[in-house]
Amino acid sequence: MTLLEGKQVVAKKEEELLNISKEYYEKYNKVPCLAILSNNNDEASQMYVKRIEKNCSKFGINVRSYISNTDDDFINNFEKVNNDEMVTGIMFQEPLSKKLKTLVEKIDYRKDVEGITTKNLGKLFLNKEEKIVPCTAKAVVDILDYYGIVVEGKKVVILGRSNIVGKPLALELIAKNGTVTLCHSKTSNVGNETKNADIVIVAIGKANYLKAENIKVGAIIIDVGINVVDGKICGDVDFESVKSRAAAITPVPGGVGVVTNYCLIENIYKTFKLQNDKK
Ligand code: NAP
Repeated sequence: MTLLEGKQVVAKKEEELLNISKEYYEKYNKVPCLAILSNNNDEASQMYVKRIEKNCSKFGINVRSYISNTDDDFINNFEKVNNDEMVTGIMFQEPLSKKLKTLVEKIDYRKDVEGITTKNLGKLFLNKEEKIVPCTAKAVVDILDYYGIVVEGKKVVILGRSNIVGKPLALELIAKNGTVTLCHSKTSNVGNETKNADIVIVAIGKANYLKAENIKVGAIIIDVGINVVDGKICGDVDFESVKSRAAAITPVPGGVGVVTNYCLIENIYKTFKLQNDKK
C-alpha cells in the first residue's frame, strides 16, 4: 500500500512557487495582496487566518485581514477591497450571516481566488484555461497527478456533492476523461458504487465512514474529510481497515489538507498573472 503523502506534493509546489514569486516580482514590479474578511473574532477562524498569513508571507504575498463587528462594517470593508486595484484576491472567512454569504456573488470574479463565484464556476464547467479551481478540489487533482495516478478510462466514485469539493472535483476528473459517479446523502446504496470504483474520493464529513468491505482490492483512496474524534483528527476513511485492500491512500492528517493550503497560493498567483497580463 502506498501512502499518498501531501508533504512530497507540497515540497514540489514550494519550489515552483518560490520561482514564480521571484519571476512575477521582476516582471510586474509588485507583489500580490490577499484581503481576508471576517465578521467576528472567532478564535478557530482567526487561527486559520494566521495560518494563511504565514503561508502567504513565505511566498511574498501581502495579507490584509479585516475583522468587522457588524454586517454594515463588513459590507463597507468588502466594497473597499473589491474596488481596490492593489487587492489581488478576496476571501470570506466563515462563520458569516446569511446576508453576508450572498455577497460572494459580488466578489469581482477576477479576485475570486477560491473559484466560488458563478462566473468562475462557469469557466470550470467549460474547462477554460483561465479557470480558478476551488482549492480542495485542486489539491485532490494535484495529488493524483503528482503520484502518476491515471484517471483516463478509470471508474471514479466521489462521495459528497458540495460546491467547494465534490462538484468541482467531478468536473475536473471528467475533464481528465474519468468516468465519474457523484454520490450524496440520498444515494440509495453507496457501497455498491464504491465497490466497483478504481478511485474513491470521500468528502462527506463523517469520521471513518468508508470501510474495507466497500472498496475493491487495489483501489486508490483519497480522503478529504477532516473530523475530530476524542480530540484526534481523522478522515472520512477508516484507514486501518481500508489499508489492507487499497493500493494507495492519502493519510489524515498529512494528505489533502496540507496540499490545499498551497493550492490557495497557486490560485493567488494565477489570479495575479491574469490581472496583470490583461493590462
Ligand atoms: P458539506 O458541504 O457538508 O457536504 C457534505 C456532502 O456529503 C454533501 O453533499 C452530502 O450530501 C454528502 N453526504 C453526507 N453523508 C453522506 C453519505 N453517507 N454518503 C454519501 N454522501 C454523503 O462538506 P464539504 O465542505 O464538502 O466537506 C466535506 C469534508 O471535507 C468535511 O469533513 C470537511 O471538513 C472536509 N474538508 C477538507 C478540506 C481539506 O482541505 N482537506 C477542505 C474542505 C473540506 P447532500 O448533498 O445530499 O447533503
